[in-house]
Amino acid sequence: MTTANATPFWLAGHQATGEDHFDVTNPWDTSVVAGVSIPTAAQVEEAVVAAEAAEKTFAATPAHIRAAALDHVSKRLAERTEEIARLITAENGKPLKWARGEVGRAVSVFRWAAEEARRFNSGEAQRLDTDAGGVGRLALTRRFTKGPVLGIAPFNFPLNLVAHKVAPAIAVGAPIILKPAPATPLSALLLGELLAETEGLPAGAWSVLPVPNDRMPSLVQDRRLPVVSFTGSDKVGYQILDSVPRKHTTLELGGNAAAVVLADWSSEADLEWAASRIATFSNYQGGQSCISVQRVIADAAVYDRLAEKIVAKVAAQVTGDPSDDATDVGPLVDENAARRVESWVEDAVTKGAKLLAGGIRDGASYAPTVLAELPADAILATEEVFGPVLSLRKVNGTGEAFAAVNDSRFGLQSGVFTHDLQTAFRAHRELEVGGVIIGDAPSYRADQMPYGGVKDSGVGREGVKYAMDDYTYERVLVLTGL
Ligand code: NAD
Repeated sequence: MTTANATPFWLAGHQATGEDHFDVTNPWDTSVVAGVSIPTAAQVEEAVVAAEAAEKTFAATPAHIRAAALDHVSKRLAERTEEIARLITAENGKPLKWARGEVGRAVSVFRWAAEEARRFNSGEAQRLDTDAGGVGRLALTRRFTKGPVLGIAPFNFPLNLVAHKVAPAIAVGAPIILKPAPATPLSALLLGELLAETEGLPAGAWSVLPVPNDRMPSLVQDRRLPVVSFTGSDKVGYQILDSVPRKHTTLELGGNAAAVVLADWSSEADLEWAASRIATFSNYQGGQSCISVQRVIADAAVYDRLAEKIVAKVAAQVTGDPSDDATDVGPLVDENAARRVESWVEDAVTKGAKLLAGGIRDGASYAPTVLAELPADAILATEEVFGPVLSLRKVNGTGEAFAAVNDSRFGLQSGVFTHDLQTAFRAHRELEVGGVIIGDAPSYRADQMPYGGVKDSGVGREGVKYAMDDYTYERVLVLTGL
């Protein structure tokens, strides 16, 4: 591709091109999908100035206009599902069926945001005459935007995690500058087309800027963007937090999610369901989801039967061309990612882990892999693999299982297969994670739920309404003499 025919970016709601471009390649066959124009430093500055200038107008835009814009995007995403899904598959390597699912989720994120925009900021009244000094006074609380948001997105859900930043910003009337991942900017740029079709959003309300990583620190530190909403690796996330401790920063980071299968989850149907969910959600995007199942912690009473089923199901998964409807597992985002996963599995096996399935790399593809008896000093035992690799661990009893889940520097979500209500509540109390999923893999997420981590998995919550809270603050009005 050349700079002249590169895909334009979106600067303050309008298409623009810079003086240079980069190519986006298809992870499956390394063909060039498109070139993407890179904004110049002056254009980035223009977007920040426009966002700052739009702040008051956008915050004052009536809810029905913001809601209508969000509904429009939701509707258009639904209408263009197939085309957008194919674009996600081309730039990300995600199998088409999962890409369609991602578009469906973005449709619902924008729809939720439209609904929340209508409800948002109805306010709250508080009587103050509970103390003598408050007699004749009333407190009214409303939320106000903190200012323009800088949204930084990762490659693994190039549309839906962008939607999770953009839709809540529009819902509250906060301008947003969105920075997509360098490997997968095309879905975000296409979303720009749908935003540009909407009516009533002020110029400056939104920009989609594929800024190179080495120019990001100055944008992150820009005081005119008081909110940073980051989704990505813990390494970059905490660098950002450390560099701007006074900003409002949300970090949605990585994990090494565990699925716990307890002794009471023991019928044939129980174990079929658990094995099928675990096999699917350890590999469904080449394992490149922050809540992919990386660890299975199973009670000794069910371990052998469960392990046998998981290995059989993993071996039966269809790997290959992600644009083929039948494919379950496609390539990783690039060959370097697959080589890193390969080296971590080799490290584990060298240190004594047993390889039960997979362990083979072909270019950017890595075969779905199952390990057992993972030694504590293996890299895989502590780090986020972000690849299709699962390790099985046998434990005795619920206490040991929950301690094993918590023996991690991460804490995003955990799945617990149990029928027992008391155990479900115990899991909710004891597991050090942002979400506990009972009866399913840890990878379940509904986009309206609060979503985020503890420990090294991050700070703050997304989920439409929760991001809206994050982008705003409560300001109280006290009326006297009533
Ligand atoms: P990454 O940290 O490499 O990149 C994320 C984004 O940060 C990209 O847009 C990148 O260009 C940008 N970036 C890189 N250096 C930067 C800098 N110095 N300043 C500002 N921005 C910078 O992550 P990735 O490889 O794209 O995504 C994978 C990671 O994201 C995994 O760790 C995964 O678990 C995590 N993730 C978390 C969630 C969640 O909601 N918790 C969801 C999806 C992915």
